[in-house]
Amino acid sequence: MSEEKHAQLEADLRAWVMRLPPLTLASSLGAEDMVLTDMVLRLNLPVRIFTLDTGRLPESTYRLLDRIFERYGQRIDVFWPEAEGVETLLQKQGANGFFHSVEARRACCGVRKVAPLHRALKGYRGWITGLRRDQSPTRQEVMAESWDDSLGLMKLNPLATWSSDEVWAYIQRHQVPYNALHDQGYASIGCAPCTRALRPGEQERDGRWWWEQALTKECGLHQSALTEEATRVKA
Ligand code: SF4
Repeated sequence: MSEEKHAQLEADLRAWVMRLPPLTLASSLGAEDMVLTDMVLRLNLPVRIFTLDTGRLPESTYRLLDRIFERYGQRIDVFWPEAEGVETLLQKQGANGFFHSVEARRACCGVRKVAPLHRALKGYRGWITGLRRDQSPTRQEVMAESWDDSLGLMKLNPLATWSSDEVWAYIQRHQVPYNALHDQGYASIGCAPCTRALRPGEQERDGRWWWEQALTKECGLHQSALTEEATRVKA
């Protein structure tokens, strides 16, 4: 089964590269995105790979960036938030204001993730993500291919039907580098203050923004209702 999925992944990526150039892969540097990064770089596909450095990432994520370069001889592009946006955010809600409300948390994600994402996607016809349906209740409708109306380009999710086991089987088979926090019980890894290891019985994304309810747990990168307005910090 996994052989079929690996072949299908390669076929999907090759077809999209021909049909929807230019394409970019938005990598969170999580396990799924490392599968996609490995295939893009090993096959030398013309896909620009980027990640978002929010300024609050765990040290292990920066080490993974170095390991990607050591393994593949290529650096992936890194997008930072605008300094003025971060300064305004901190003035309004302090360094860790995101713990106080969903609105404050989304404001932080808006400045540190969503606004840089908009810059990173400019000029591309499609973006590839590592979303899987069984990651969380908010992702059960993820399609392999859909129009992203909020961003105005195609959204491609080639791992939509993959399981976590299939992702890790690929990583082991191809000796793909991955974030060391996965070995400490972290399933989904984002910013350091907003991510923790899973506890027994928890679902994959329960370690992200664990103080919130499951249905609010998206950072804005994958919400169709996203608008530029949502990326601004209101006074
Ligand atoms: S995950 Fe946390 S620290 Fe990172 S951008 Fe969102 S609220 Fe801010």
